[in-house]
Amino acid sequence: MITEKRSLQVLDHPLVVHKLSILRDKETPSYRFRQVLHELSWLLAYPTFSALKLTPVDIETPLEPMTTAHLPDPMPCLVSILRAGNGLIDGFSQICPEASVGHLGLYRDPKTHEPVSYYSSLPRDIADRQVIVGDPMLATGGSAVMAVEKLRSMGVTDMVFACLVASPEGVAAFHDKCPDVPIITAALDRELDDNCYILPGLGDAGDRIYGTN
Ligand code: URA
Repeated sequence: MITEKRSLQVLDHPLVVHKLSILRDKETPSYRFRQVLHELSWLLAYPTFSALKLTPVDIETPLEPMTTAHLPDPMPCLVSILRAGNGLIDGFSQICPEASVGHLGLYRDPKTHEPVSYYSSLPRDIADRQVIVGDPMLATGGSAVMAVEKLRSMGVTDMVFACLVASPEGVAAFHDKCPDVPIITAALDRELDDNCYILPGLGDAGDRIYGTN
């Protein structure tokens, strides 16, 4: 059963705005883009990981025994939507190195703008894990929806979607198809252009990260 929550959290923090402005600037070279994206991914990790479940654990501090909590076994899985998703998920996996990392290769057909799947690598026990899906841009929502539907078909029930910049069109499409999956974003921009790029946006995230243009 899919619970209707339709949650959208837009980060409202001076450091996030500052770093995102550096990413948006077309003069920012790709080495600096990668560096700042990495810093931003740590800030985004804080709200994104707040939905993670904990399991009680008994330990001893140097002074006395105590019951505290750990992330559960199996650990969460971080899923990158290739290729730009790696820019976010790399930072997430540094904050949470115990998490496994999955990859979904989806590209956008340049004519139809529809996502096409070309690669998938996920842990066998993914259905038992909480999953964080990352892609810097939520534009039409097509790739994000396809990724969530693929994970759902593998039995995943507990997911969060994290991005840097979302469009209103992408949020609406995602909420329509995946109302149970919260969206965490650093910014909600104005609209899509005729080529389905986000305005004002930051351009093609993959090209900006990897300097391929
Ligand atoms: N993908 C990007 O990388 N940028 C956009 O603006 C939209 C989709």
